[in-house]
Amino acid sequence: MEKANVDVKPGRVNDPNKMARRAAFDPTVATEKPQAFYDQIKAKFAEERDKRLNYRPSGMSQYTSDLTGDLAKYETDPWAASAIERAPIEDHVECLFIGGGFSALLTAARLRERGVESIRIVEKGSDVGGTWYWNRYPGAACDVSSYDYLPLLDELGYVPKSFFAKGPEIFAHCQAIARKYDLYDLAIFQTTVTQTHWDEKEKIWRLQTDRGDKLTANFVIVANGTLAKPKLTKIKGMERFKGHSFHSSRFDYEYCGQNLENLKNKRVGIIGTGATAVQLIPHLGKAAKELFVFQRTPSAIDIRDDIPTDPEWAASLKPGWQKERLDRHVLGTKPDPEKRKEIEAMPRELRTQRYENHNIEHQMRIHRRVDEIVQDKKTAEALKPWYMHRCKRPTYDDDYLPAFNIPSVHLVDTDGKGITEIYEDGVIFEGQEYPLDLLIYATGFEVQVTGIYNDIRGEKELELNDKYKNGMRTVFGIHSAGYPNLFIMGGYQASFQFNVTFMLQTQGFHIAECIRHTRENGYRTIDAKPETESWWVGEVIKYRGTTSRNRECTPGYYNFEGEENRREDGNYNGGMWQYCQHLDESKGRYEEYFKFDE
Ligand code: NDP
Repeated sequence: MEKANVDVKPGRVNDPNKMARRAAFDPTVATEKPQAFYDQIKAKFAEERDKRLNYRPSGMSQYTSDLTGDLAKYETDPWAASAIERAPIEDHVECLFIGGGFSALLTAARLRERGVESIRIVEKGSDVGGTWYWNRYPGAACDVSSYDYLPLLDELGYVPKSFFAKGPEIFAHCQAIARKYDLYDLAIFQTTVTQTHWDEKEKIWRLQTDRGDKLTANFVIVANGTLAKPKLTKIKGMERFKGHSFHSSRFDYEYCGQNLENLKNKRVGIIGTGATAVQLIPHLGKAAKELFVFQRTPSAIDIRDDIPTDPEWAASLKPGWQKERLDRHVLGTKPDPEKRKEIEAMPRELRTQRYENHNIEHQMRIHRRVDEIVQDKKTAEALKPWYMHRCKRPTYDDDYLPAFNIPSVHLVDTDGKGITEIYEDGVIFEGQEYPLDLLIYATGFEVQVTGIYNDIRGEKELELNDKYKNGMRTVFGIHSAGYPNLFIMGGYQASFQFNVTFMLQTQGFHIAECIRHTRENGYRTIDAKPETESWWVGEVIKYRGTTSRNRECTPGYYNFEGEENRREDGNYNGGMWQYCQHLDESKGRYEEYFKFDE
């Protein structure tokens, strides 16, 4: 049984089919079909997964994010109107953020509220916004309701324009936050932090950048984003391609035209069919002379049904409305004790079977939707995802499937194999050449890596990744012992939420409170106690043991491309509610959790 987990706002159609956004499966409810039906589908899921694993034993290393040399163009900033000329800076601030996306903006806002004046953002792009600065491809939008995703709506007195916010609105909101909290004053853009080293004697962080800056700070917040560094699949011959090419997060409007008008005589190819491509393809399909979609694994495409914000509803909102709404949502993730008891009383095998059966029912609805929309039967078959819901990032779009009814849009389904060869004029698959003028890589990003572009060294000059060599060690995914006054955002060992900004706000509150406590008590440093770290690593391990996603899911970034990984090297799976509880419990008891140095 599927349960809609979104608010129905006035004017929104209360049709369960239209509400089927976030599926929650209840194992206490039996499914209706004979078990053989589900078993057969589960066997097909396994077959599809095995096929992909056999094609790509290279796992994560099939990708590269080392975009240097010939590949450097895939990472250049297309939005920088001009290169900022400035002399290297040598100065000191109290709090320094590496990165200027939501992590930095939300935490900085909370620091301002606590009276911190000296705050600097150092950002690779030319403005704040992070993901929403970089990803400006046509159709970019968020899949979480805008009233939940766009943070600080109460504080900014803003109500989003529609149920799902589009990229430009979100980017503008980021800029508005930076203005409201005076974060532009000290910010430096087009600047990448390359070194973040702890000075044990002075008890400050010393940072260097690619612009020759020598910066120091009391507190450093590593806010480099969860999906910030573009990656490319290593494909034989990619450097030979003579046409134009770019990564989806560096969309080239100069080549395509502001309204993609330049594509009307172009043969366009796109590699990848993840959440980015799902939003982009309908636009390319309408604009290009011909579009070739090179698919390795289809995404699950659910209903979007976006609607403009009802002005009456917006006018009726009382101050504090967003906080109330978010609190309700988090409470919504709190396990109902009665239900929990009922579920726990079930035999484990039956419980798992029911979860899976409901999940399969959900995916079969996604399949039916493909059949209802896509006219060509072969194309429709190829667009059906054969894996459990949430093995890959689910997507929500009403224009993607219809795009395949446009005669000039061609699905080149590689049946799990993927594109393995590129030649001077385009892409080759199974001996067939697809000549192209433009090739777009929608191949994703490095996931939750702390310290991209950056060398972080704490006490005894130990580099952070060296510390993690035998397994990640943090407290709440935020603190790591031996790295005093350093706070990590959006990395592993923290909880993960579909609504990323909620997660980042939670971390931002905690970090701002830790810094407040340190300052107000006259301490110079805060660091994780090794015993707290051991406790937290234990918590992460405990909950990550309960999922079979790595083994059973089709490969993708959610399961490290099917690679075995240590149980501590991932997100905390105890649930968002419990993660918030842990952070709350630490408040007022920081001396028990952390080491302070006067
Ligand atoms: P993903 O990593 O999700 O997708 C990469 C795609 O490239 C996959 O379809 C992958 O196939 C495919 N691929 C890789 N190599 C090849 C190859 N050789 N041949 C053919 N296909 C290939 O990246 P995205 O940029 O789409 O999304 C990243 C994340 O960003 C999302 O999961 C989401 O969290 C976020 N996002 C959110 C949005 C929203 O809120 N609406 C919009 C866009 C992104 P395979 O599946 O087989 O690995």
